Amino acid sequence: MTYLFQPEPQPYLPVAYSDERIPVRRIFCVGRNYAAHAREMGRDPDREPPFFFCKPADAIVKHGITVPYPPETVNLQYEGELAVVLGKDGANITQSAALDHVWGYAIANDLTRRDIQTAAKELGRPWDMGKGFDHSAPISAVHSANKIGHLTHGRIMTTVNGAVRQFADLKDMIWSVSETISILSQSVILKAGDVILTGTPAGVGALNIGDTCVVSIDGLGELTTKIGMPIYTA
Ligand code: MN
Repeated sequence: MTYLFQPEPQPYLPVAYSDERIPVRRIFCVGRNYAAHAREMGRDPDREPPFFFCKPADAIVKHGITVPYPPETVNLQYEGELAVVLGKDGANITQSAALDHVWGYAIANDLTRRDIQTAAKELGRPWDMGKGFDHSAPISAVHSANKIGHLTHGRIMTTVNGAVRQFADLKDMIWSVSETISILSQSVILKAGDVILTGTPAGVGALNIGDTCVVSIDGLGELTTKIGMPIYTA
């Protein structure tokens, strides 16, 4: 038996300070996980359970790579986020065991076609086209939890052309990393290579052609993404 078409290459993330790579399986994203951002999106953050959406693994964009301005939007937005990379399979993971499943941490930019997402919300339609488009998942190299420990607090900051747009602390997440892993694992089987984007703080806003967006998290360095001209063909 042979494949009819050549399979696409395995999406991966580089490991920081190493030539090793992590094969990426799925990218899960938490919808609202900082109270001030939930409020700016018009929601009451109090005790709403977390919800999830996905991005395709082949939407990953590495550090320093230019993202072509995506089609069908006039409101591309950045969302700086902590990414959690799993290194161990599991379902129905308890909160106390959850961090054992974490291989490491990275910086992500949950790029969003906000106008498409907003229209989908109003119509009760799925978010996929607002969130899971081509090049929608810039993610940095992954830092091993064995080396840097588990991130429960620390500065998360987003700049656009050097101006600070998001400035918050990881400790302000409504649902902790261990709670998020535990809750998500009640819903789907999680596997090594899965990546969870843990939600963005307040201050989301637009990116335009020519902009440089830098997301930084204490202990993880920086993720730089430039926005370039649209592309019209594959
Ligand atoms: Mn997000």
